Amino acid sequence: MKIEPARTSDISELTIPANESLQGRTILVTGAGDGIGKAAAQTFARSGATVILLGRTQSKLEAVYDAIARENLPEAIIHPLDLAIAGSEDYDVLGRSIMEQFPALDGLLHNASELGALGPIQYCAPESWMKLMQININAVFLLTRALLPALQRSEDARILFTSSSVGRKGRAYWGAYAVSKFATEGLMQVLAEELADTTNIRANSINPGATRTGMRHAAYPAENPLSLPTAQSLMPAYLYLLQPASQHLHGQTINIRTLLTELPELQATAN
Ligand code: NDP
Repeated sequence: MKIEPARTSDISELTIPANESLQGRTILVTGAGDGIGKAAAQTFARSGATVILLGRTQSKLEAVYDAIARENLPEAIIHPLDLAIAGSEDYDVLGRSIMEQFPALDGLLHNASELGALGPIQYCAPESWMKLMQININAVFLLTRALLPALQRSEDARILFTSSSVGRKGRAYWGAYAVSKFATEGLMQVLAEELADTTNIRANSINPGATRTGMRHAAYPAENPLSLPTAQSLMPAYLYLLQPASQHLHGQTINIRTLLTELPELQATAN
């Protein structure tokens, strides 16, 4: 029997009730049409943010837009963009458009990624390697670079880079995906040090851990998806990292699961 991954289908599945913790903030999420990005976009909207939904498949972005609209949450913005083919001018246009429409950009969640074909480095087709690097790391650089002026206008901006356990310790056959995640960690660390003393931007990298999404199912097709945590269950940690309360975290490599266990104490200290 073929096991299909459970999908995040509706905003009502979210575990976080509507709240105002991101009221008035503008947050861009890449890969917002599916998986973790979809859950994050809906969570941020539910917390009062205006969410810019960036992704490859327009129909998926529209479904997230509609789910947000059905709840009368702040109206989202759809920005379809294929990170595999977008050029630096596309990112600059987006950066300028955000500066024109909003006083500032308060959050940027780099979430979109491709898994690519797993296998030995020796047999990785050069064009597959290049394409994956374009999506998973070059696009992350280009988007960050283009959006930094808008992020600098915020009093309290956040950039989250999405990594993986294979981006922190190499693992055979994880090829370009793993290498791109190492590069993501490197980009975060270099940028965080540059921003530390001169801006209010906080940059961190996160590892969501094994999560019930299409990407996980592609990597582990024989695994029962129901044995894995849902994307929604991670959202309290994602939400915390976008809020002013996480100001003390900067240049960190964060495991979302660990942060989830620490949250009650962190929130108690903040209150
Ligand atoms: P999914 O495959 O479920 O979602 C990935 C999202 O990225 C989709 O919305 C997809 O768009 C988008 N995307 C992919 N390629 C492009 C592109 N060329 N241009 C624009 N958007 C694109 O993945 P997950 O939700 O599982 O993963 C989210 C992040 O978490 C990734 O960075 C992943 O590496 C990381 N991660 C996930 C883990 C897991 O177990 N799920 C574990 C560790 C890390 P579309 O739907 O249109 O294809």
